[in-house]
Amino acid sequence: MVAVSTGKEALDQAPNGAFDLILLDVGLPDIDGFSVCKQLKADTRCKEVPIIFLTSRNSAQDEVSGLEAGGIDYIAKPINPAILRARVNNHIELKHSRDALTQMARLDGLTGLPNRRTFDDVLDREWRRLARVGQPLSVIMFDVDHFKLFNDTYGHGGGDVCLKKIAESAVGSLQRPADMVARYGGEEFVAILPDTVSVGAAAVAEAIRENVAAQGLDHERSPTAKFVTVSLGYVTAVPNVERSPSALVEAADKALYAAKAAGRNRAIMGLGE
Ligand code: GH3
Ligand code: MG
Ligand code: MG
Repeated sequence: MVAVSTGKEALDQAPNGAFDLILLDVGLPDIDGFSVCKQLKADTRCKEVPIIFLTSRNSAQDEVSGLEAGGIDYIAKPINPAILRARVNNHIELKHSRDALTQMARLDGLTGLPNRRTFDDVLDREWRRLARVGQPLSVIMFDVDHFKLFNDTYGHGGGDVCLKKIAESAVGSLQRPADMVARYGGEEFVAILPDTVSVGAAAVAEAIRENVAAQGLDHERSPTAKFVTVSLGYVTAVPNVERSPSALVEAADKALYAAKAAGRNRAIMGLGE
């Protein structure tokens, strides 16, 4: 818990604290509480943190102003500690449920990897960030070889287990904290490697290929190998805000299909520029 006594301190500290709840007075020595609330609600770092006004200003108009400023609740002094505690606990519980839903909306239910939407957000953010600093971004697309045949052989449930294991191998192949692998859709995955040149992307792509193969998951009817394999396409570019990152993803996809055509279970570099 953190307690501060001015609006300025609240504005300085609330966005960085990952708080579950904020209790805010209206009559502060510097900025008024309604304005503090509006500013916190406009800040992406803390706009989801519920704010309860706790104040001696108890007119109906004050309460309306507090709720309109983005407060989730308005409690007039004098307070009853038991009621305050109960309301605080209710709002914290609701905040945790909302956080869990937000998290679920960002992850793929089967593999637990970030989903397509999260991938699009991260790619867009990294594209703009790396354009500013002039550093390269690599993308790796990969797809399970003969996965329709795998499902036909081992059933859809077996296919799901296989996808989870491939996701684990891919995560274990990444080297840096900023690297991310997402489920792009179906049996297709995509990795984003910020600040990574093509030699680095080639190494990660090869690590994913090897780690998937090394699991030795039976795929007895695959024309490629007796075990599950993946094909990969990777590309590198220095982002430019004049262009969209979708061309990079398309180039990785093209390289992936070249890897399929060349015999599968391999990684091929595409043209990123
Ligand atoms: P290729 O080597 O050319 O990639 O051939 P493929 O059979 O893997 O490709 P295709 O696109 O023909 O088949 C993809 C299969 O992936 C078909 C689809 O049923 C299966 N699939 C997609 N999503 C899932 C999933 O979530 N679970 C399971 N079990 N199968 C899935
Ligand atoms: Mg496939
Ligand atoms: Mg596919």
